[in-house]
Amino acid sequence: MIIDNHVHLLFEESDPQSFLRGCIRTGTAIFTRESGQGADPDALYENSMAILSDREGDKLVARMDEAGIDRAILLPLDLGLGCSEPAVTEPGYLNAAEKNRLSFEATQRHSGRLFTYLGVDPRRRGAAALFRRGLEEWQTKGLKLHPAAGFYPHDPLCNPLYEIALEAGVPVVIHSGTEPAPLKAHFSQPCYIDAVAADYPDLKIIIAHCGHGWWREALDLALSKPNLYVDFSGWQLEYSGRPDYLYRPLRAAIDLLGPWRVLFGTDGSLTDIIVPPHEWVKAWREPQSAAGISFAAEELAIVLGGAAARLHGWD
Ligand SMILES: [Zn+2]
Repeated sequence: MIIDNHVHLLFEESDPQSFLRGCIRTGTAIFTRESGQGADPDALYENSMAILSDREGDKLVARMDEAGIDRAILLPLDLGLGCSEPAVTEPGYLNAAEKNRLSFEATQRHSGRLFTYLGVDPRRRGAAALFRRGLEEWQTKGLKLHPAAGFYPHDPLCNPLYEIALEAGVPVVIHSGTEPAPLKAHFSQPCYIDAVAADYPDLKIIIAHCGHGWWREALDLALSKPNLYVDFSGWQLEYSGRPDYLYRPLRAAIDLLGPWRVLFGTDGSLTDIIVPPHEWVKAWREPQSAAGISFAAEELAIVLGGAAARLHGWD
């Protein structure tokens, strides 16, 4: 079984325009690595939205079918407070409750294939109530926090959310590593997640993206705290530069933590324009490492699905 631990539904009003355009500027820079010029971010935005816009998850499930991905976990983002809350200026902008409800509807439409966490900014009034509502009404499987929107994950204002997750027995995934403008990476350094793992040793916490450039820090922290997990979603950026930029950290993660705390993910849908999911799955299943880095079939089976199945009680 292959489980994508980290995916987002994207559509015109899904996230603040400033964030979506920031993501596209990042993508534009990747596509023009060699020439250093030439791509038009506005054209790439229009093309990407035309291809990826997917309010109900139909395109996501079609891409999962093509890639052989059995299940995917939707992580709704609540980025408004980090993007000057565009509710007034952007018609149709979705608040956190509406967005999480839509995510639940996609899981109902694609029952057995899509599952959802609850994404909320802990600074919002009613954040804890929304998380409880997710658990009671929307079959929420965990909590997603995105500190790059402007808060630290070890800020005590997050504690009520961690306590609810602990009580419900569900994991928390916390973004770590870089983010396009207008979000700020310094809130997302793995060391701040370590502080949460210290205060809540029984709470299972996934360091999303294994911290990207902070991957050594993320692995060191997880080595000392067995309630920390890492996912390697969003590493298409590094992989597209050189495949071993993925394989070296992935090998280190499995060597240091064992395969059961290392999770596969795409971070789609925007990353799908860099490496489509079927190619991403192939990159994991049939690694082509210039440095001769290799993975046992048993390790890959766990990382691609077994670990996530155990984490969510699906095995
Ligand atoms: Zn993500």
